[in-house]
Amino acid sequence: MRVMVVGAGLGGLTLAQGLRRAGIDVAVYERDGADGRPQGVSLHFDDRGAAALRACLPPAHLAIAEATMGAPRGQALALSEVDGELVVVGNRVLDGTAGRVPPGRQVSRRLLRAVLLAGLEDVVRFGAKFTHFEQRPDGTVQAWFADGSTDTADVLVGADGIGSGVRWQYLPQVQVYDTGKRMLMGASPLRAVADTGVPELIGDNPASAQIGTTMMAMGALRFQESPRAARDQWLPDLRSSAIDDAEDFLMWAVPVTQERLGAAATPAAIWRRTREVAADLPAVLRAVVDHAWPDLTVALRIGMIPPVPAWPSSQVTVIGDAIHAAPGFGGNLAMQDAHLLRDALVEVAQGRSEVRTAISEFEDAVRRNNAPALEPHP
Ligand SMILES: Cc1cc2nc3c(=O)[nH]c(=O)nc-3n(C[C@H](O)[C@H](O)[C@H](O)COP(=O)(O)OP(=O)(O)OC[C@H]3O[C@@H](n4cnc5c(N)ncnc54)[C@H](O)[C@@H]3O)c2cc1C
Repeated sequence: MRVMVVGAGLGGLTLAQGLRRAGIDVAVYERDGADGRPQGVSLHFDDRGAAALRACLPPAHLAIAEATMGAPRGQALALSEVDGELVVVGNRVLDGTAGRVPPGRQVSRRLLRAVLLAGLEDVVRFGAKFTHFEQRPDGTVQAWFADGSTDTADVLVGADGIGSGVRWQYLPQVQVYDTGKRMLMGASPLRAVADTGVPELIGDNPASAQIGTTMMAMGALRFQESPRAARDQWLPDLRSSAIDDAEDFLMWAVPVTQERLGAAATPAAIWRRTREVAADLPAVLRAVVDHAWPDLTVALRIGMIPPVPAWPSSQVTVIGDAIHAAPGFGGNLAMQDAHLLRDALVEVAQGRSEVRTAISEFEDAVRRNNAPALEPHP
């Protein structure tokens, strides 16, 4: 069996690792270059992502991924300014109920992606923009790419994010909405912001401060083990600036409307805009933004996909943001989808199921698992 995956994001790469580990022939086609486009520095990583990595990654990859996570995070803190000082005024247990974020750990997005890519160099083709596919009478699927090249496989998986071209052709009824909200996200070296007192105040917990109309969410990533030491121990051949340059940091995020963001487009311009937006915040939070790495600052678009009624299954399917957008935990859902699909395709490869049946069962499971995330936003 041969599987084509469009998109080398968290979902596509987890799936590719899992298929390869099970001895299934897989090819990944990625529009961007090996570094990908900036998607923010860190992720809150929960049990769904952890289970997917355990099932899909080779032992050394899993070991480095686990060793380089932050400490467990069990509660979210609310911060406010009292008598001119930033203090904790409330906390909420992270329990995953009612579509809320479950407990987890902070991970470096770039580092995780570098680990997911390791060992797949011969199956991932960068600079390959998917354009369209055709389902052929013999049960295979042919895909075309912008450079005119084409490939054929038994299964085509759209892991190509919220703007998915695979979904656009396969499920044209799916609506994607731009909420008009943007998340300004960046990170500051922990050493540079230690004297603000913020890292000590929040520990390893996610925290947010609402001051007037401006909100800032933040979280520290203190690598449990040095990424370079973990690399040397587990994957000594892995070369990545995400590991070479890694140091503990404080990530921060400030939601704004597109109007408030304005025309800022480059990382440096977005960082400057964030400093202006943060002008209402307490001095210690302004200092956190001031000390950020400007080139890691991004403005992420917040999109929404309303629940999609079941469709007839075929040898084409979609995972992750391509079918359900969940800004706070969509990466975990994408990895969970990859895990489920990998298990379903192993059943096919081992002769215990047939492609359409396996994909149909996988899609039912995705709809069940993601039901809370699929609730329309208020
Ligand atoms: C502000 C914000 C904060 C978030 N925080 C978290 C968090 O803390 N925890 C969490 O779990 N999730 C979080 N998410 C969600 C998470 O970022 C996404 O859900 C996750 O990245 C989805 O993974 P994916 O593999 O489905 O898609 P993506 O990561 O978007 O990957 C899709 C890939 O497909 C490629 N591609 C697209 N089109 C084509 C094409 N035509 N041809 C070839 N390749 C193509 C893209 O270049 C990309 O590499 C957050 C999202 C936002 C916006």
